[in-house]
Amino acid sequence: MAKYESTERLGKAERDVVTLGIAVAAIILFVATSGSVLPQAIRSILGSGRGPDVILVNALLLNIALIIFGWRRYRELTDEIHERRKAEEVARRLAETDPLTGCLNRRSMARATEQLRNACLDRGEAIAFVMIDLDNFKQVNDMNGHSVGDRVLSEISERLRNRLPKDAILARLGGDEFAYVVPFVPNRMELIDQQVASLFDTVGATINLNGAIVDTTMSIGIATDGDGRSDECEMLDAETLMHHADIAMYQAKKQGKNRYFWFEPTMENELRFRNELERGIRRGLETGEFVPYYEQQIDLASGDLVGFEMLARWHSPELGLVNPEIFIPVAEEIGVIGTLSEQLMARAFQDARQWDAELTLSVNISPVQLRDPWFSQKLLKLLVKHNFPPHRLEIEITESCLHENIEMVRSMISSLRNQGVRVSLDDFGTGYSSLEQLRSLPFDRLKIDKSFISELRNADASSKIVDAIISLGNGLQMPVTAEGIEDEKILEALKSMGQLKGQGYFYGRPEDASQVKERLRKAGKLTDQPPTVPATSSSEKSGGIGETTARQANRF
Ligand code: C2E
Ligand code: MG
Ligand code: MG
Repeated sequence: MAKYESTERLGKAERDVVTLGIAVAAIILFVATSGSVLPQAIRSILGSGRGPDVILVNALLLNIALIIFGWRRYRELTDEIHERRKAEEVARRLAETDPLTGCLNRRSMARATEQLRNACLDRGEAIAFVMIDLDNFKQVNDMNGHSVGDRVLSEISERLRNRLPKDAILARLGGDEFAYVVPFVPNRMELIDQQVASLFDTVGATINLNGAIVDTTMSIGIATDGDGRSDECEMLDAETLMHHADIAMYQAKKQGKNRYFWFEPTMENELRFRNELERGIRRGLETGEFVPYYEQQIDLASGDLVGFEMLARWHSPELGLVNPEIFIPVAEEIGVIGTLSEQLMARAFQDARQWDAELTLSVNISPVQLRDPWFSQKLLKLLVKHNFPPHRLEIEITESCLHENIEMVRSMISSLRNQGVRVSLDDFGTGYSSLEQLRSLPFDRLKIDKSFISELRNADASSKIVDAIISLGNGLQMPVTAEGIEDEKILEALKSMGQLKGQGYFYGRPEDASQVKERLRKAGKLTDQPPTVPATSSSEKSGGIGETTARQANRF
């Protein structure tokens, strides 16, 4: 709008009617007066006649002055217009381009895409909109500083510019996100495949900035208005194309980064479902939709119940009862896993206070929570608040935690054990923990993953892996739990292999708090503890945690 107004003003300046009128009138008057004044003046100079009328001479001189004035005004105006045109050009360029890389910015990219799309529609060509997002670029900034980050972005844009065909339009959409749009023959999508595939080696190659070595990878999403099966192009506007490319890029990120995907309509449904999940999880946290279920843990030799593993369930009003494998990864990604876990533990501590004091409670902890340096203090505070004795609690962590900062994990485990909480390694055998880690990390227990236990269902009821893990546990003096015991055959096989604890569907499916309470009531294993015990100083004193520990925890 502003640009339109200023162009209009410039146009008016160019057609400055007043100046033009004065100049034209001056010229006409000059022609008219000089026609009579000049011959008279010449005759008078030659001495053959009277001098010209003084008024006419004055009028002529005034005319000359007006013509000079008009001409100067005209020069000034054209200079001014020229300057303003230049300034406007600079302002337009600044508004349309990214100052760091000189590429188009997001706003002008939409317009440029629209223009290219219209031109291509006329020519019967399709366009591909390619969205490029650098992977883990935040780390580049964090590790090397923002000035190196900026230079990396400039280098990437330069490499892209050199690699792309002449008719491609390149933009930096913001942060570490680039995009280009390029025409192609509608049913030759493989050409775009080749072009994009080549970018991973060329654009993503190592960048050396005076000793700072930066390796970047990219996740790429592509959308097109040609479907690749026919010569026809769909009518997709620039905004839709950008949105589709964005969804495909997100898919590339989700599938492990450093790859590309073409947009497919199913991706949009997936994304919508995921957004609904995200919203549902946030709302569910506020309305208390997440509840603990419990799976029995048994001493295999005696058949006695020794405790329960708490397993999260989501009572979603839209989706019904949802399993943790669906919502835990999303809760981790959107940063609410800590809150979710604390809510569940709080409920579980209250439930478990009603159980026989001999029964233990195991809870699963996400690797994301272990990255929180305050995790053990938060846990301690929760134990104090619900007056739950730490020695009844077992934390289960998976092997994937051991990829993280191993020293941090070590100090976390030590700190938990110092409070009296036990720590076990869950799903053992499915990850990559080294024997060295196993020897040096102070775990209290190994849990053999159910995928190995199920091998015991084979005709000879043997599994070399299960055998090996039990021997390893014996060697390291770590007790072992077998999970996924589904039938008697597996149970008998395990019993013959050593002193184990076990759990699985053979003993029943995970149950909610009231079902567990009923089970324990029948077995005479309920205590008289009230369900909710608010943290008061007197209950802290009477609980299993010492006063010093309670004071420490209350600082957080
Ligand atoms: P996990 O800790 O290894 O839990 C055992 C899983 O195996 C549970 O699945 C359980 O229902 C299932 N299971 C138990 N017995 C059998 C059996 O005999 N056969 C078979 N095929 N499966 C059996 P669930 O409840 O779906 O939990 C899946 C995973 O989700 C858990 O694996 C755990 O890693 C994670 N999880 C559960 N609750 C939480 C939580 O509160 N926080 C975190 N971070 N993760 C959780
Ligand atoms: Mg577990
Ligand atoms: Mg497990």
